[in-house]
Amino acid sequence: MRQRKKWLMDAVKYHGHVCMGQVFGVLIAEKGMELIETRDPHDMIVIAENDRCIADALQVITGTRLGRRSFKLEDYGKMAATFYSMKTGKAYRIWVSGNVTKGRNFHSLPENERKKLLDEVLASDIGNVLSSRRVSVSFSENELPGKPKVVVDCCNCGERVMDGKHITKKRKKLCRSCADGAYYKG
Ligand SMILES: [Zn+2]
Ligand SMILES: [Zn+2]
Repeated sequence: MRQRKKWLMDAVKYHGHVCMGQVFGVLIAEKGMELIETRDPHDMIVIAENDRCIADALQVITGTRLGRRSFKLEDYGKMAATFYSMKTGKAYRIWVSGNVTKGRNFHSLPENERKKLLDEVLASDIGNVLSSRRVSVSFSENELPGKPKVVVDCCNCGERVMDGKHITKKRKKLCRSCADGAYYKG
């Protein structure tokens, strides 16, 4: 429990507020690192399934980082994450499943009830809050941590594109924005 409280404090400090996502992040991180049998951020890849609160908590607690490619986002909008061990290749998906949270909307609870529920979940047996299952995930060499293996310059805009993220059209290597249009205008 002392460990969970410390992790929660670290996560809240980074994230900016205490919320159920930070508490779930603490429990998911604890379970995930236990299952893949490592706490070394250089030995693991964590894939979070939403870009809200748990994403911050998981990075803070595990030490994995988006910018180091040890943390990845697959945005399914779910309170779930997969932990992958680079050493053993084993992976486990962990998701929030327990009755503690079913049908309750934390955001609409009065402050004192919300605080009570957060404390309750933080102190729970993990099995009452989370489920987990062995899964298999694979990464291409372009997705792994380390130096970029493929680097090209876009034929159209000249900007550099790393990690095989370019698209080849009519034998021309193009960045995604030149090939398919960008998320921005202008
Ligand atoms: Zn939050
Ligand atoms: Zn381009």
